Amino acid sequence: SQFDRRNLLSVMAWAEREFHHCLLKDPIAEGARQYLAERGINDESIAQFHLGYSPDEWDWLLNRAKTADFSGEVLERVGLVLRRESGGFYDRFRGRLLFSIRDALARPIAFGGRILPGTVSSNPDRTEAKYINSPETPLFSKGSQLYALDLARDAISKQQGLVVMEGYTDVIMAHQCGIQNAVAVLGTALGEKHIPLVRRFTDSITLVLDGDEAGQRRTMQILDELLALFVAHEIDLRILSLPTGADPCDVISSQGSEAFQQRLNESLDALDYKIDAVTNGLASAPGTHRSALAVEELIGTLARALPASARSTSSTLVREQQVLSRLSRQFSVGEETLR
Ligand code: ATP
Ligand code: MN
Ligand code: MN
Ligand code: MN
Repeated sequence: SQFDRRNLLSVMAWAEREFHHCLLKDPIAEGARQYLAERGINDESIAQFHLGYSPDEWDWLLNRAKTADFSGEVLERVGLVLRRESGGFYDRFRGRLLFSIRDALARPIAFGGRILPGTVSSNPDRTEAKYINSPETPLFSKGSQLYALDLARDAISKQQGLVVMEGYTDVIMAHQCGIQNAVAVLGTALGEKHIPLVRRFTDSITLVLDGDEAGQRRTMQILDELLALFVAHEIDLRILSLPTGADPCDVISSQGSEAFQQRLNESLDALDYKIDAVTNGLASAPGTHRSALAVEELIGTLARALPASARSTSSTLVREQQVLSRLSRQFSVGEETLR
């Protein structure tokens, strides 16, 4: 039937070609081409990432679908159109720069769409979100996919590490500058569902965080969970958090790729990152009570990250010893007490 997985994949491949061709050739996409040029995203990246443009119309893709003999229903199934209350359908992506999300086998399965600056909202009552992404579909589940994994997999194996960023443009700029082992999460936090996807390529991940407070606070909230998860799967987790207001795309554009590579090299082991974050939180107001709370928090982290079951391997034993001696020095508490 038209809803077979194979046909859904061919609908997405067709849509990617339509949007990409529009971005490359259509006069209507001039603003989008200009925007990419201003951001320093070059033609090679536009081709490599199959970037596209969806004109600001209600039925641009729908009209093309008629010629290609794809039904509104099948477009709806892959999230490309929405159903009108009055019957019929309308395009989901209108007036947006499109990032094609492909699976690890390079098959298009979803899109992320960025509004262009200065675009007049087609619904003046609402301020539109900067990004809209495809919904969950039979092809796409945002929590278990990573943007550009298909393009990064060779480099991940060769460089023996994966760099996980927050946004599409971060990844594109990284690849453009030779950091080809970069991927991005798709508007979710890094989590358990990503593990099977990356486990075959690497046992070392660096998570790069945009320099915004909300995002970093969210990461602190899930850090213990992440640590435990990565220890359990024997994957090294390092964290790089960028200065306030900056993300990888900004840093690479303004300071160059060497500066960014340098920061990557200085990323912290996730446990050290946590210790630093808790310790820095203390700096403003020291005191015995506060440092006792900090020690308690960190011991809790350690107990969750290195549970008895994980202590069977010698590497986690060594790690535990290292962390205990560091805490002991930092807070002047005997190692035996900490134990
Ligand atoms: P740009 O540099 O173009 O502004 P960005 O990637 O830096 O884009 P962020 O605000 O840092 O944008 O968001 C990071 C990622 O989170 C985006 O690339 C996108 O995948 C996702 N995202 C952001 N805002 C939304 C939204 N409103 N709805 C869904 N996903 C979003
Ligand atoms: Mn952010
Ligand atoms: Mn950005
Ligand atoms: Mn960002």
